[in-house]
Amino acid sequence: MAEYHAYTARSIHRHPCWQKLAPELREAVEVVSHVLPFRVNDYVLDRLIDWSQVPDDPMFQLTFPQRGMLAPADYESIARLSRDPDRADELSSEVRRVRLSLNPHPDGQLELNVPLVEGEPIPGLQHKYAETVLFFPAAGQTCHAYCTFCFRWPQFVGMPEYRFAARETDELIAYLSDHTEVTDLLLTGGDPMVMTTDVLRRYVDPLLEAELPHLTSIRIGTKSISYWPARYVTDDDADDLLALFRRIVASGRNLVVMAHINHPRELSTELAVTAVRRIRDTGAQIRTQSPLVRHINDDPAVWAELWRRCVHLGIVPYYFFVERDTGARDYFSVPLVEAWRIFREAAQTVSGLARTVRGPSMSTTAGKIELLGPAIVHGERCLALRFLQGRNPDWTYRPFFARYSETATWIDELEPAFGEPEFFFMPQLRSMMTTNPATSTGSPAISGRQ
Ligand SMILES: *Cc1c(COP(=O)(O)O)cnc(C)c1O
Ligand code: SF4
Repeated sequence: MAEYHAYTARSIHRHPCWQKLAPELREAVEVVSHVLPFRVNDYVLDRLIDWSQVPDDPMFQLTFPQRGMLAPADYESIARLSRDPDRADELSSEVRRVRLSLNPHPDGQLELNVPLVEGEPIPGLQHKYAETVLFFPAAGQTCHAYCTFCFRWPQFVGMPEYRFAARETDELIAYLSDHTEVTDLLLTGGDPMVMTTDVLRRYVDPLLEAELPHLTSIRIGTKSISYWPARYVTDDDADDLLALFRRIVASGRNLVVMAHINHPRELSTELAVTAVRRIRDTGAQIRTQSPLVRHINDDPAVWAELWRRCVHLGIVPYYFFVERDTGARDYFSVPLVEAWRIFREAAQTVSGLARTVRGPSMSTTAGKIELLGPAIVHGERCLALRFLQGRNPDWTYRPFFARYSETATWIDELEPAFGEPEFFFMPQLRSMMTTNPATSTGSPAISGRQ
């Protein structure tokens, strides 16, 4: 088994890469990691990052904190306080202030999507769209490395009120038994594939033993093919894991590994290619999803290459997301119309087998909203949008229009076209949010920005 070494801001100086980093890049790691999570492992350091291209290298940008991720004034204040050991208390309150300013909890998912049974929330579950339940196993709420743009960053920096997790599957199974409309279960995190096979089995076996004929797909959301492909190849329990996958498939279910891949380089190592082959050999399907992120993959050629490589390896390109409205999004976000241009230019150069990908899609409080693109309707320049998933299923695939904007990066920066006072779904969304007792705390913003 390849030995696994993870590094944080406290230990990264022990890896030889630290010597290659210019002083200002080291400082950025030290300062920004007070606020946002940093964790990386030696597979990422040794095999994915191209150190001759740092700091522009996309894998470096994906995993290493960058100065631009904090507003200049916040960066300065954290840097100043962290240099002075006598001001530790001030530092921690400043860190908390900056974190809260970064919209740690977008899309109201804590209050809004947690199912209630007899008025009591079930921790570790989310049920937003009728057919799919998300399950956050407690043991899978960390990752092999952390992505700099991650929207789940608060749970990795010990903001416990933002942590989502379930201790066990009993409540999950009871919930699924009652909800026969659910066809899909998504195990997510963090990254459920940080769990050993033994621990994962403790979650999966009861599901396979339960009487849940309506549950036809089990999805596992993971970045492990990219960050730790040894999980499927050389780890001590890799073969046991693949045997567990085979058992899920043998139970008559569709097992889908929802692989989070940002850049084609992540699928270029021999180990990753072997991991993909071994996963597919179990009968599992692999689909990819990823956000468009400035400094990492804001280039149509990168996406085209990623999708081509996916199709070549038998992976289905699935979602192309707009970077969410949280964390260091000012550093990473790309305007919606630019996202659409990149998406379209990339799609033009790949075969139809790669055009299974959907997007650009924003995951908002109201649902997943896809930007179909700019249009001119009765002489007015506008943006055509539609729901891929709606909090109300009736909204699905209905086109609607926003006034054209060159700069908007999220739905809350768009205004309805044609002089409409608000988007068609707003009155319903408002009433859904006031009638759900789980939402009575706080007043979550409609469009997904708190
Ligand atoms: C995206 C998403 C799903 C799954 O949607 P699909 O279109 O079926 O892949 C389920 N729940 C939530 C909260 C989501 O954001
Ligand atoms: S692997 Fe996923 S959950 Fe983990 S840090 Fe990256 S984006 Fe976030």
